[in-house]
Amino acid sequence: MDEITLEAFGKINLSLDVLHKRADGYHELNTIMQQIDLKDTITLKELEEGIKIECNEKEVPLDSTNLVYKAWEKMKEKTGINRGIHIIIDKKIPIASGLAGGSANGAAVLKGLNILWNLNLSDEDLRDIGLEIGADVPFCIMGGTAHAKGIGEKLTKLKPFSNKMVLLANVGIPISTAYVYENLNLRAINNRIDIDKIVHYIEEDNLTKLAENMANVMESVVIKEHSIIDEIKKDMIKYGALGSIMSGSGPTVFGLFDDEDKLYRCKNELEKKICKVFVAKTI
Ligand code: ATP
Repeated sequence: MDEITLEAFGKINLSLDVLHKRADGYHELNTIMQQIDLKDTITLKELEEGIKIECNEKEVPLDSTNLVYKAWEKMKEKTGINRGIHIIIDKKIPIASGLAGGSANGAAVLKGLNILWNLNLSDEDLRDIGLEIGADVPFCIMGGTAHAKGIGEKLTKLKPFSNKMVLLANVGIPISTAYVYENLNLRAINNRIDIDKIVHYIEEDNLTKLAENMANVMESVVIKEHSIIDEIKKDMIKYGALGSIMSGSGPTVFGLFDDEDKLYRCKNELEKKICKVFVAKTI
């Protein structure tokens, strides 16, 4: 085999709490990660030496800052294999949106090289390598539904919460994750999110209860600067979402629906305000 094509799925956070800042500067998280079927496609082709990256989306960097480049470098470093690679990214997941598109691409390259180079590394090995690339990469390798702690690397796989209808609305404002962390006033958060309750609703497959109880502590920072985020959340509820929050550090807002007609009506309404509205399913 000298070529392989992989799907790189995005994620949403079904709830996200930031507990405290650690001595190493990272923030300790408590969150539920959920893969969705909104995806990029990654094709890997054998190359004698070096790396060539192509992408249909011109804002994606094609240099060593791309997570696919980092994934290739880490695989070479960990295995001692020195082979080239040609990576073609077909980008559908909006960039810098809180949907982990870059991390999903990096994870796909680790999985693809494992196959292409006959490495036989376990998923656990790949997750360990992935963590050196980015905090969301281990989850993108695991997939499905997971409870994540630490910086996102302490993962517990949960019962699948698949086939739930999700409407995603991306307002297209670039928001840096670092900015959100810096401006998060952890002392002002009195009510911690009850993540165990969210886990319980997932185990019960109780979409309504889960949707009603979802929360993301990062919203306050982003909404202060961009009230449109709050407007979209309210629109989602007005047009029938069971619950709506921002994903990750934003700016994507998602709503969970149990009625397809309502979801498409909401999509039509939101498209009057913003252009990037996507329909997806949990996987
Ligand atoms: P997360 O939810 O993990 O914070 P995100 O969805 O907010 O991720 P990404 O789409 O991963 O953000 O992109 C963040 C930045 O990473 C971009 O601004 C881009 O410059 C850089 N980047 C590096 N590699 C990629 C890639 N393969 N796809 C998209 N962006 C990438």
